[in-house]
Amino acid sequence: AQAPLVKFNDGNEIPQLGYGVWQVEDEVAEKVVGLALDAGFRHIDTAKIYGNEEGVGRALAASSVDRNDVFITTKVWNEDQGYDEALAAFDASLKRLGIEELDLYLIHWAAPHRGKYLETWKALIELQKSGRVKSIGVSNFPEKELREIIEATGVTPAIHQIELHPYFNQAELRKVNDELGIKTEAWSPLGQGGEILKDETVLKIAEKHDATPAQVVVAWHLAIGNVVIPKSVTPDRITENFDALGVSLDSEDVEAINALSREDGRLGPDPADMD
Ligand code: NAD
Repeated sequence: AQAPLVKFNDGNEIPQLGYGVWQVEDEVAEKVVGLALDAGFRHIDTAKIYGNEEGVGRALAASSVDRNDVFITTKVWNEDQGYDEALAAFDASLKRLGIEELDLYLIHWAAPHRGKYLETWKALIELQKSGRVKSIGVSNFPEKELREIIEATGVTPAIHQIELHPYFNQAELRKVNDELGIKTEAWSPLGQGGEILKDETVLKIAEKHDATPAQVVVAWHLAIGNVVIPKSVTPDRITENFDALGVSLDSEDVEAINALSREDGRLGPDPADMD
């Protein structure tokens, strides 16, 4: 099986299902990214702040899968925001990853109070022009800051990576992304492995499709058009999550999971406050 490709507004494509490595130690990353590639994942989501770009790079170098067949995302950390700072942070990330060219570079958080997201976005535009990164996007941007960088530069992010899972489904921000021609990518798509995987509605749908709860949640993301990057360091679960590609939900299943979203479902920081 292969993940479907999602087309960006810049013409490039991203595998809809990827593998995330937040909270994975550098040495562990080398091993589990290898397992993820073996399972079929061709899209890896890391960040400078995860401290495992080198491990991801070593896994890529060691794998029999060609580097050009793997989509790599990394992100500028908040402290590296600013024009020159972001350019330098990009060089350092590529060096750690051991690659010449990156597939996707994201601003990790808008961090509105720092007031540097626009200068940082201008640096990413420059990097894309230079050809060293194919696509550029953002993560954790409130609607206001998202519209502001587009209006100021005329360049629309290819993708917006946001917290998104059945208990916090971001219907409004997804609509904004859609209207602007930005793809939506879900972080903590399994709700960090919490309550959602024990939710009665999810369990029922899992039983109906002879699938696991995690597969049902991943299948829901795929069905509503999200790019999705579940994380696991457990070999069986890595395979299980990739095999969610084979689970196709009915519209009534999707509707039932859509209805689980809650006002207070957010797990991470609010992007408007994060610094
Ligand atoms: P997740 O929602 O992917 O949940 C991961 C956890 O779920 C695992 O640690 C495990 O406990 C459990 N799990 C995974 N597969 C399972 C399975 N098949 N069965 C049962 N339990 C399972 O959480 P996440 O790591 O927070 O998010 C995924 C990725 O999103 C990250 O690794 C990272 O790449 C990205 N992310 C980005 C941001 C951002 O600010 N841009 C923030 C958080 C995460």
